[in-house]
Amino acid sequence: MPDAEPYSTNDPRLGLLLEGIVRLAAGDLNTRIPVSEARDEIDAVIMGTNLLAEDLQIVYEELEQRVQARTQQLNEAHLAMRHMAMTDPLTGLSNRSAFATALSEAQANGGQGNKRPAILLLDMDGFKAINDSLGHTIGDKVLETVATRISSAVREQDMVARMGGDEFAVLLPGVSPAEASAIGSRILAAVVGVMEIEGQHLRCGVSMGLRMADPGQRAEELMMEADIAMYESKADGRGKLKMFEPDMLLARQMRNQMVGELKEAITGSQLVLYYQPIIRLDTREIEGVEALVRWNHPTRGIIMPDEFIPIAEETGMISDLGGWVLRTAVEQLKQWRSDPETAGHNFSMRINVSAADLQRLEFIEDVREALASAGLDPSLLVLELTESAVIQGNDLDRYTLNSLRRLGVGLEIDDFGTGYSSISYLRQLPVDTVKVDRTLLSALGSDPAQPALLAAVLQLIRACGLAAVWEGIESVEQADYLLSIGCTSGQGYYFSRPLPEPQLTEQLKHHRTWPVT
Ligand code: C2E
Ligand code: CA
Ligand code: CA
Repeated sequence: MPDAEPYSTNDPRLGLLLEGIVRLAAGDLNTRIPVSEARDEIDAVIMGTNLLAEDLQIVYEELEQRVQARTQQLNEAHLAMRHMAMTDPLTGLSNRSAFATALSEAQANGGQGNKRPAILLLDMDGFKAINDSLGHTIGDKVLETVATRISSAVREQDMVARMGGDEFAVLLPGVSPAEASAIGSRILAAVVGVMEIEGQHLRCGVSMGLRMADPGQRAEELMMEADIAMYESKADGRGKLKMFEPDMLLARQMRNQMVGELKEAITGSQLVLYYQPIIRLDTREIEGVEALVRWNHPTRGIIMPDEFIPIAEETGMISDLGGWVLRTAVEQLKQWRSDPETAGHNFSMRINVSAADLQRLEFIEDVREALASAGLDPSLLVLELTESAVIQGNDLDRYTLNSLRRLGVGLEIDDFGTGYSSISYLRQLPVDTVKVDRTLLSALGSDPAQPALLAAVLQLIRACGLAAVWEGIESVEQADYLLSIGCTSGQGYYFSRPLPEPQLTEQLKHHRTWPVT
């Protein structure tokens, strides 16, 4: 048995081995220890160590790869979550919080020259009606279509967001006011086009507010001011682009103040009714009075309805206001009919009913109760409804109208000729009279074609089996002309302005015919 060469403890390989092990232990897994020619026990240990190092390196690399893969998955999940938190799921657009973040960033970057960040705030006109009447599936498709149209009308660098509901916003990172307006107009034009959704042809406009950012202005403030400008566009007939102006802020504040004051006015008996007679054109007897509401404001004096009825309608106060008008007017008619000094007249009470009232089933009950508690026959009450209130109407409106009709109250279309109702449509409505808008009469005398037009309108109304009342009669010539073409009823300053109750009561006591001289 050949003697194995004894190795000395000075063998330099031992030093190398030790060094190698130290390096491996320190994590340098690429380290390999050189094997000598001797191939003895020391080399065996060295080779074993190298193999272990090899294994360790493989295991380690695998581990590293796995960690990397996991990290990537985590990152992706994180990004997806962030995307979800920043995206509107229906349209895929950015959402409100993403928009606010981007706006803050754009503001922090500031503008250059007259180029500044700008925001456009868009709110669709009449979307609720589409949603209510055609259903949410179609409503969603409309929103998606609008989202696509807005996106196609803006530039690459602009951000389009859905703020919720039917409200969208666009961030223009650096534009001049003129550029911002041009982009806004482009969006308006893109959105209004007819869209075909599930075989339905729909059209939906938008109202838009534009706010050019002032340096250092906070995102929330900018968005609020864009909203005010958008609101202004709504108030100004919709479908427009309005640039924010500081005056608007004041107007909004005044409006908010008015909302609070109006609430008090309705409960605190600051409302008063004026009454304007409706006259039989041949005998000049009074056949009706229209109740017209005024607000006797503690500091401003008399405020006309055009100033507060729209606010009452927007804020939902109109039903309380309308309820008060109904009860007060009916009660007043009862008084005139029971007072021996005025009971000689026989006329009905006309009140203006707002579109919102037709949406409330309780309204039918309110009318029944008011009449019952005054002990008046329902035919003594005529409800005036504007064309638009009835035409935009839905099934509920139709139901209310029919119920009122069955109750026996009169129904009249007000402001006829200003809307877009076709005569054939009118024929289907349960109404008995139309009140022709005063603008039709005001052109009489100045426009040579007007007499022919008036005669034609009258014929159309008659052909539908309806009676006509002409409003806005301001002169004896107008009254005579209407009588000559066969009109029977009229109302206007020529006969009487709307009068406070005591004044009209005086007239009723002393006069049988109008105008009083
Ligand atoms: P409307 O129903 O068309 O009422 C007629 C308006 O024309 C009244 O204005 C009346 O003063 C005015 N007028 C009457 N004769 C003449 C005339 O010869 N020439 C001219 N230029 N104008 C005349 P007013 O009282 O300011 O009412 C405005 C509108 O406010 C009403 O228009 C009606 O839509 C609304 N309104 C008034 N009272 C109520 C109410 O109690 N409820 C609701 N919902 N709306 C009301
Ligand atoms: Ca009226
Ligand atoms: Ca009218």
